[in-house]
Amino acid sequence: MLIILLGPPGAGKGTQAEKIVNEYNIAHIATGDILRNAVKEETTLGRKARQYMDQGQLVPDELVVEIVKDRLLEPDCTNGALLDGFPRTVVQAAFLEQVLPDIKARIDRVLSVEVEEGELINRLTGRRICCDCGASYHVKFKPPKVRNVCDQCGGDLYQRSDDTLETVKERLAVYKKQTEPLISFYREKGVLSAIDGNQDIDSVYKQINSILKDY
Ligand code: ADP
Ligand code: AMP
Repeated sequence: MLIILLGPPGAGKGTQAEKIVNEYNIAHIATGDILRNAVKEETTLGRKARQYMDQGQLVPDELVVEIVKDRLLEPDCTNGALLDGFPRTVVQAAFLEQVLPDIKARIDRVLSVEVEEGELINRLTGRRICCDCGASYHVKFKPPKVRNVCDQCGGDLYQRSDDTLETVKERLAVYKKQTEPLISFYREKGVLSAIDGNQDIDSVYKQINSILKDY
């Protein structure tokens, strides 16, 4: 099973991904998480990626496609994978088409999570992340039980440096220009399902589950 979660920053991809991978027992491949980890560990990849991420720009395709290719070959992907935040450009999508026969996989569904822009800004600027386990919260929509403390591991919550209003606006513009064209790319291939992401977290998941249960 190979599923792609497509949608603007803040659409709820990571939130839904957590539920999907638990239920369907497939690997979660989030390029944003992999890149943030590389930045934190100060690896060669992290040093190259940081400048782009800080500015809300996409990391160059040639760096990202290598990560995904290697990741898809890892043993936990044998039962399938959920791609979250990849592909984000037409070049990345074309690359994926090329490598899929090598790993004997095909794209089952692309879930395009659609959310209004004002709501995206509210979600991103209110997002908080656990510095230890990476769990994601929202100050209003998904608050932790104790302010700024992770429910799952007790770690401190922080705001991502690219979740400030200025960088959020840049990321949304980048999405429109570079990633939105993928919606028609996958619609033409007959694998796209639109999801109304404006609803609450559980209602969005219900829509997703009603599509994925057939695969
Ligand atoms: P993405 O991975 O698409 O960037 P996230 O899953 O991190 O988005 O969600 C962005 C923020 O919005 C998080 O703080 C999350 O808790 C919150 N969120 C996610 N889905 C919803 C929803 N359906 N309604 C309200 N808030 C949501
Ligand atoms: P995300 O966690 O998905 O919001 O991604 C955070 C940042 O990581 C993005 O703003 C980009 O700078 C970078 N990034 C994540 N995925 C990709 C990708 N597929 N292609 C290019 N850059 C990416």
